[in-house]
Amino acid sequence: QRVVFSGIKPTGRLTLGNHLGALRRFADVQYTGRCVFSVVDLHALTVDHRPARLRALTRETATLYLAAGLDPDACVLFRQSDVPLHAELSFLLECTAYVGELNRMIQYKEKGRGRPGTRVSLLTYPVLMAADILAYRASEVPVGDDQRQHLELARDLAVRFNRAYGTVFVVPEMAPAQVAARVMNLQDPRRKMSKDDPDDAPGTIRLLDPPDVVRRKVMRAVTDSGTRVRYDLEGSPGVGNLIEILGGCVGEPDLESLADRYTSYGSLKRDVADAVIALLEPLQQRYADLADDPGTVEAILRKGAERAAELAAPTITAAKQAIGLAA
Ligand code: ATP
Ligand code: MG
Repeated sequence: QRVVFSGIKPTGRLTLGNHLGALRRFADVQYTGRCVFSVVDLHALTVDHRPARLRALTRETATLYLAAGLDPDACVLFRQSDVPLHAELSFLLECTAYVGELNRMIQYKEKGRGRPGTRVSLLTYPVLMAADILAYRASEVPVGDDQRQHLELARDLAVRFNRAYGTVFVVPEMAPAQVAARVMNLQDPRRKMSKDDPDDAPGTIRLLDPPDVVRRKVMRAVTDSGTRVRYDLEGSPGVGNLIEILGGCVGEPDLESLADRYTSYGSLKRDVADAVIALLEPLQQRYADLADDPGTVEAILRKGAERAAELAAPTITAAKQAIGLAA
């Protein structure tokens, strides 16, 4: 059976990168197998956070899942902290993982290694992520390209645990987006567009940005001093990123031929702005309706948590049994 798991951590307002790399693709797979999607709020505790903002972002992220078209009757949608089994399995996997391999994680190196005030949980965060995935015996994980190394770790831990104690886990495959798997910042196209960018960052498109804001950000995107529109991420990362975004929005995987249709940066940017605005419009409309009705969102999350716990329980029981706990 096809089992899909993915999550987004509520550390900031979701970006176009989150949508093209992950969220949008959740709705595409939801009728094709068992699909489990989580707002992974425990992960948000691994970096400096404020409780009230975390709660608000968790609600906003869950609402955006629904606004992006997730059907709570077809998939399981829940808040990670409502299902304590994640933390429990994470500990078993911490007893499978090595300090050395966590220390080598790129995101840890970039975000915390060697800095005072870095939380222990930032180091162990990829293990909790592995637990999220392995708990559901997910076969597939739709995530952006930046998660490649973490997914590799989840696979390694599954294999290592299975070899040591007997087969409990399914080894998951990463399912990257065909195009726009790594959307870059419009002002600094060598850097990933991230929801941790400052709220008013001009190079970061938020899913709830109104159309005029989207257009302004796209029109001011950094390109280069050349004039030819070509798809070359190395030589011309700003233009390449705009073409990736356009291809992602309109569903055109052949980015070279997409680039060939343009003779100026101005016309490319206009089409990118139009495509992003068109992609976000229905989502924003549904968001506005749902935001008026927080009770419904909360009820969906609670029901989802119950279902998630049911699905994960047999895996944890088997893992505890295998590793020498339980009777
Ligand atoms: P942070 O920078 O704090 O890690 P984030 O924007 O990467 O924030 P995550 O919660 O880590 O958010 O990621 C949610 C999902 O969105 C993941 O599948 C991730 O790979 C994907 N994603 C994040 N940023 C991008 C991006 N710029 N392009 C494509 N996919 C992305
Ligand atoms: Mg990330």
